Amino acid sequence: MNSTGPADDGPREGAVVASGARRVRWSNWAGNQWCLASVLWPTSESEVARIVERAAAAGRRVRAVGSGHSFSGVALCDDVLLRLDRLDRVLGVDRDAGTVTVQPGITLRALSEHLWTRGLALANLGDVDLQTVAGATATGTHGSGWSLGCLSSEVVSFRLVDGSGRVRVGDPTGDPDLWSAGRVSLGALGVLTAITLRVVPAFHLRAVREPRRVDEVLEAWPELVRDLDHVEFLWVPNTGWALTRSSTRTDEPVRPRRRRDRFHQDEVVDNWWFGAVQRVGSLRPSALVPLARRLPSAGRVEFVDRSHRVLTAPRRVRFVEMEYAVPFEATEAAVRAVQQVVAGLSTPVVFPVEVRCVAPDDIPLSPAHGRATTFVAVHVHRDHPHEEYFTRVEAELRALDGRPHWGKLHGRTAEDLEPAYPGWSSFRAVRDRLDPDRRFTNPALRRVLGP
Ligand SMILES: Cc1cc2nc3c(=O)[nH]c(=O)nc-3n(C[C@H](O)[C@H](O)[C@H](O)COP(=O)(O)OP(=O)(O)OC[C@H]3O[C@@H](n4cnc5c(N)ncnc54)[C@H](O)[C@@H]3O)c2cc1C
Repeated sequence: MNSTGPADDGPREGAVVASGARRVRWSNWAGNQWCLASVLWPTSESEVARIVERAAAAGRRVRAVGSGHSFSGVALCDDVLLRLDRLDRVLGVDRDAGTVTVQPGITLRALSEHLWTRGLALANLGDVDLQTVAGATATGTHGSGWSLGCLSSEVVSFRLVDGSGRVRVGDPTGDPDLWSAGRVSLGALGVLTAITLRVVPAFHLRAVREPRRVDEVLEAWPELVRDLDHVEFLWVPNTGWALTRSSTRTDEPVRPRRRRDRFHQDEVVDNWWFGAVQRVGSLRPSALVPLARRLPSAGRVEFVDRSHRVLTAPRRVRFVEMEYAVPFEATEAAVRAVQQVVAGLSTPVVFPVEVRCVAPDDIPLSPAHGRATTFVAVHVHRDHPHEEYFTRVEAELRALDGRPHWGKLHGRTAEDLEPAYPGWSSFRAVRDRLDPDRRFTNPALRRVLGP
């Protein structure tokens, strides 16, 4: 199992490539994590159960992967790796209960499209929608919203195959401890085979994207997050500017961006620009800062569209990322600390620093457990070094009682994470009950969850 600094030249998008001895190579979206494993594509829950049972009898390890959108090594496996691409169906919609039940491998995009045709939607989404529902909930994937928790907080119940191959049901009445812990599980409790999520009536969002002075945004942040349904800002390193993205529910009909604006925002500003700047920066690092200063020239854009089209956008430039969850009250301190780190780096950074907020929840391993949370994310092009930047930012945000995003790069260990999570021991108790032999562990989990 490997994690590399600069991206390796292997396959992308979790692609598999045949290698010598019946094992195949799997790598994540960013290309910074890869492993060689025996890959299986189960098509039913009973098949998953049989695979795990056989693996248990043979003393082998098993891990399920989603779309490989985690930057950390959480999904890696050097033994039996389960791809759940063929478990990607919607199993049922319960309108009265306001829920949808899906197989684990469905992507957020496919689910959003399916729900839309039935007049329904997920209440919130992150930046992209290519992750699977199981993978996204396993790491506490989140969007932004003062009154909206991470995707895992919408989990009503689930089914999973435990370390012995037995099917368990996690729901608040039948097995409340499993339900509580299994919503953010890092894949450490078993293989999820079905997930029931809360849904809401389909809605439109009126979106505004505009550059603003970062000091002004920070000052207004407590009001902005309460006034707008979704708001985030991207501070452009080495400038006083932030690109703000906000959206609020509206009854207005769809008024999409003009094709030119959409191309400019989603392709030129969010994608092409970063690729091009990065290429120039590789040749002449001193050119990065002047180029970064041009980014805020992207003008103000306003449009109305379906919720999932507003909340997500394509990401074509491959990068690596670290994201920290700090208490909401520490937002300004966190951003100022990152600004200081950026100012002192030996290699200039150009990727914007993303700031979002999320409602508190009661999930034992959720980074937003028990507190209104601000997420601060730092990114670097995958071919550029990130160690100095991420290590220094991590030290600053950890000092603010920060907790790392499980799917993103970080240097924390079980020993120092345990005190940061009040629900740590309840998660461990469920793990000991469901997977006493640690059928589902890997080196990344041993580091962050302990043996
Ligand atoms: C371009 C990009 C944008 C992103 N934007 C955001 C964002 O806006 N907000 C955010 O919070 N995160 C974001 N992320 C991070 C991403 O959402 C998480 O890392 C997420 O976990 C990835 O989901 P996945 O389906 O790719 O799962 P993987 O990365 O493949 O796996 C993640 C974890 O889920 C486990 N898992 C997968 N399937 C199962 C199963 N059936 N049963 C049990 N465990 C399972 C794996 O073992 C692993 O531990 C982004 C990542 C990228 C690359």
